[in-house]
Amino acid sequence: MSEFDRSLSTTPRLFVQAVLSAGAAITLDAPQSHYLGSVMRRQPGDMVRLFNGHDGEWAARVSAVAKKAVTLIAERQSAPQEQVPDLWLCAAPLKKGRIDWLVEKACELGVARLQLVTTQRTVVDKPNLERLSAHLVEAAEQSGRTAVPELPAPLSLAQLLKHWPADRALIFADETGGDAMAAAFARCPAPAAILIGPEGGFTSPERDAIRAHPGAVPVSLGPRILRADTAALAAVAVWQAINGH
Ligand code: SAM
Repeated sequence: MSEFDRSLSTTPRLFVQAVLSAGAAITLDAPQSHYLGSVMRRQPGDMVRLFNGHDGEWAARVSAVAKKAVTLIAERQSAPQEQVPDLWLCAAPLKKGRIDWLVEKACELGVARLQLVTTQRTVVDKPNLERLSAHLVEAAEQSGRTAVPELPAPLSLAQLLKHWPADRALIFADETGGDAMAAAFARCPAPAAILIGPEGGFTSPERDAIRAHPGAVPVSLGPRILRADTAALAAVAVWQAINGH
């Protein structure tokens, strides 16, 4: 690692919406400008790492610091755009603390899309997507990712099943039993998805509807009943270990 890269590794890392290319001027929004200028006390000439989810990570030099608008000039790409394994995590929205944790871990573990799915026993029917999206960005900033998982609008289980892509395996984490996880995941490379139920689990009619879907692969995550957030984390980590990178 060069001296430049070593020094860069300790600089702030921010997600921006702007296009990133050599010489591009990027002006941060007010909250990011406050963070970089007033909290991190960066001055003109200091380096920052920027990423936008598409162009990899770029080393950018602070060119001007105003209270509500810090401007930077992108100089060179410091990390390539990551290749994201095509894995979706489909999960019921959980109670506030747990859904925040699940969103953060899903990003760190490299999922491509987090699809919230409302089921009969879902306790949160209107998740705050803006807050969850901010958690995804923050997790990507912290974990060195150059991609941010997609967070589309929530779907009902019926909508999810009705519009399911024919080429994508629907790995159904079923606490009442299913194929052994490792063997099943080895048969379900990308494009794939893992479906996790709510704190109260799926109802029997929901379970029957999922199992009746042609793309469904019922999987057991082991003999113990895991909490929904634990189940999601465990299943994604094992799938990535077998199929991801
Ligand atoms: N009622 C219990 C509870 O509240 O903890 C169990 C429901 S469990 C938390 C929620 C979801 O996690 C289930 O719908 C299933 O998708 C997944 N899950 C938990 N343990 C599992 C296991 N041993 N095998 C497969 N899936 C599991």
